[in-house]
Order: sequence, then C-alpha cells, then structure tokens
Amino acid sequence: MTSFDYDLFVIGAGSGGLAASKSAAAFGAKVAIAEGDLVGGTCVIRGCVPKKLMVYASHFSHFSQEASGYGWNIPAGKLDWHKLRDAIQTEVARLNKLHISFLEKSNVELISGFVKFVDAHTVAVGDRKFTAERILIAVGGEAFKPNLVGMEYAITSKEMFLLPEFPQRFAVIGGGYIGTEFAGIMHGLGADVTQIIRNHSVLKGFDTDVRASVQEGMVNRGIKFHTGIDSNSLKIVKNEQDLTITFNDVDGNAQQITVDEVLAATGRKPNLAPLSLEKAGIEVVNNAIAVQKDSCTNQPHIYAIGDCTDRVNLTPVAIAEGRAFADTVYGHTPRFISHSNIPSAVFSQPEAATVGLSEEKARELYGDHIKIYKTKFRPMFYSLAGGESKTMMKLIVVGEEERVLGLQMVGKDAAEIIQGMALVVTMGGCKKDLDNTMAMHPTAAEEFVTMR
Ligand code: NDP
Repeated sequence: MTSFDYDLFVIGAGSGGLAASKSAAAFGAKVAIAEGDLVGGTCVIRGCVPKKLMVYASHFSHFSQEASGYGWNIPAGKLDWHKLRDAIQTEVARLNKLHISFLEKSNVELISGFVKFVDAHTVAVGDRKFTAERILIAVGGEAFKPNLVGMEYAITSKEMFLLPEFPQRFAVIGGGYIGTEFAGIMHGLGADVTQIIRNHSVLKGFDTDVRASVQEGMVNRGIKFHTGIDSNSLKIVKNEQDLTITFNDVDGNAQQITVDEVLAATGRKPNLAPLSLEKAGIEVVNNAIAVQKDSCTNQPHIYAIGDCTDRVNLTPVAIAEGRAFADTVYGHTPRFISHSNIPSAVFSQPEAATVGLSEEKARELYGDHIKIYKTKFRPMFYSLAGGESKTMMKLIVVGEEERVLGLQMVGKDAAEIIQGMALVVTMGGCKKDLDNTMAMHPTAAEEFVTMR
C-alpha cells in the first residue's frame, strides 16, 4: 500500500480551505494546508472584513448632520485616513494570527509558500515536496483588469486598503459588487466620486427595482455616474500629479475626468496559472476548475471549492462547500450543498440584499403566474434625521398558494433583515406564512409581514 505524507493537502488558507482543513482534521485525517500569503484569504485579508470596516467608517460622515435633526449639536468631523487604514490593518493582522491559532488547535499543519503540482499526488512548495492521498484546491480568485490603454495605472480592491494617501477625487470603473461598494465607501469618507459603467445601471443581474433603487440612492447622496459608456474607448493617462480618464459616453461624445486614484472593479477570475494543474491532469473549463456537485474534479482524489471553481463566489458558499467535502469524504456522511436561493448582500449605500429569484427571473420561469408585492417608504429614522433615503422592499410569489420565490430589499439594514427572512424561501414558505407572522412595531422589517 502506498503511504503518503498526508491524508489531505489543502492548497489555500482562505475561508473555504480553512473550514475544510479543520473539519477533515476533526474527523481524524492528517491534514496540511499551504498558503503563500497571510492566512485568512481574500475575505479576511483584503475583502469582506476590511471592506465592512470601511463601510462602518464611511457612515460617520452623516453622523453630525443626522444627529442635529435629533437635537444634538455635534461638529462635523474630519477623517484621519492613516489612522483608519492602520487600525483596519491591525485588525486584519489580529485575525490572521487568530486563524493560525485555530489551525494549531485543530492539528492542521500550516506550510508557508506557493504550491505547484508535481504530479497527481505530489505538490511542491519552494524546493520541498509533499505527497497526499487527497488534495483540495481552494486558491480563490484575483482581480481582473481589462486590456485597455493605461489600465496599469488603475488600482484593484486589494490596494484600496493600503492607499498611502486618501484620494480626494476618485473614480470607479465597473458597476458590480466591488465598484458599487467602494463608490459608497469613498464618498462617505469624503472623496468626490465618479462611477463609470458600461451598463445603463449598476448591479447587472440583480432585480431591476434593486438596481434602480441603489443607483437612485447613490445619486441622491452625491455620487456622479457615467452610464452606458463605450468601454473599449476607455483610456487612462498618467499626469504628473493625477490621472485623466477619457471615454466615449452613451451618445458617442468624448468625455474626460481627472482624478487622484481610479479603481478597476471589473470582475475577478480564478488564479490558476501558478498551480501547474496540467501536471496533475486537472480539467479547467472557462478558466475555472471543473467540478461535480460534490466538488470533485476529473481526478477522483482531487477536489476544488470556492472562487477557483467559479460557481457562486461568496465566502459562506466556499465554507459550506468545504464542510460538505469534509463530511462526505472523512465524516462518511455524503452531502451536497444547494447553490440555489443563496442570500447575498451588496454593502452599497444604500445597502441591497436579496434571496431567491428576481422579478425578471421569476417571470421568465413562471410567466403570469407570479405576483409582486412592493413597497417604498422613508424609514422612521430619517423623519427627524432628514435626507432622501428610501427603503424598497419587494416580495415575489407564485401560484394560488403564493409560494415565496424571492425577497428583495434596498435600504438601511437590508442585509440583516434579508438574512433572517431568507428562511421563508429556503423552507418553501408562502405569503400566508408571512401574513400569520405578527409584526414587530415600529420596524422596517415589519413591512415584509404586513404587505397587502
Ligand atoms: P462583478 O462581476 O460583480 O462586476 C464587474 C463589473 O465590471 C460589471 O459592472 C461589468 O460590467 C464591469 N466590467 C467588466 N469588464 C469591463 C470592461 N472591459 N470595461 C468596463 N466595465 C467592465 O465583479 P466585482 O469585481 O464587482 O466582484 C467580483 C465578485 O466578488 C462578485 O461577483 C462577488 O461574487 C464577489 N463579491 C461579493 C461581495 C458581497 O457579497 N458583498 C462584495 C465584493 C465582491 P457589466 O455589468 O456591463 O458586465
């Protein structure tokens, strides 16, 4: 019988790899995990966590104005960018250490360095080689920049957390999750923000009312937009002190804006090239590792989870895929996770959250059998605080029993509310279940159980 150095070798200590390695070790497997960067991965080091801290930081700019409506006289503050940036990095460093200590407690061996496949059971980290009975690839993804003139001068979300100086004039290219979130953050922190997108509105693929409500809210807050631009015409020129972005607008007219920093938030892709996957004969389709629903690749002992498989690129999905893998392979409890009805939030300002189907997708699948319940209102908080902030809530149901297909929300606390409400969709609940739920008054969330 062949003997291996490890039962399981995990490549990548991000959210998915960490969850899978600890679960497999808890079932008694001898596990190693390799990481070339800080332990924690995109989410913890340069994604969800530092981003959410920046979202919180950006909320304080409204504080004195909102408080004055409630009778408080608080002078408007001024951001100390270096203090914020360094405080976030201190927190990131703390979490990195914490995750290393969790690995130690779980008996997972941490190997520092980037991994290359040598053959289907052997990997190399620097000049060391390791063999494993099974290998799990959880290398995530990295920012993708289109091949346009001057794109090398654009930063990506990774550099957003380490900016040496705060850019007073800031542009974002892209209207997806990352672009829309950072436009709100930078505006809240005090920058003059312009978002440049090739679509007619932000957040392609989301419910039309969500897209419109987010964009309307961003415009009301003072973010400038160029929509429907010809993205092939886009160029960035570096000046001595700043950057000039030129492009043709929706009418074909040449436009230019000058900024201190430009963020390319134009999507992410799995970063597979350094792995030498071909040495292990692993199939790649459309630049992502091809997997079956149990996360197994075309090699029966090699699995892949998270963003490198380009299924649903969200942290909780990678964690769930990792735990399902460990339960199936080491816990002798075979199970798959469902990739439908996954709730998701965009921490834009206003915030958006969704679970289940958009109205457009529901109509495509069920035609006229769907019914829409919708409300738009000014939350009570703003009645004294002032401002144009509106909340939009929408319920999409189907058939006579009015089974809930989707819930959409834009507004304060949307993510917190939809996380709880997601249960209705997961459990196959109907409108009557919401009607039978007593409202909590006064809240915004009560609208979901009182819609008529
Ligand atoms: P997205 O795919 O969400 O958006 C990419 C954006 O870039 C789109 O608006 C797209 O335009 C635009 N774009 C692409 N190519 C070009 C081009 N050549 N010129 C101009 N615009 C272009 O990617 P993100 O980078 O925003 O986010 C990546 C992933 O990270 C998300 O899909 C999500 O899974 C994850 N994420 C999740 C978060 C959360 O859960 N809150 C937060 C941040 C990231 P168009 O719309 O026309 O295609």
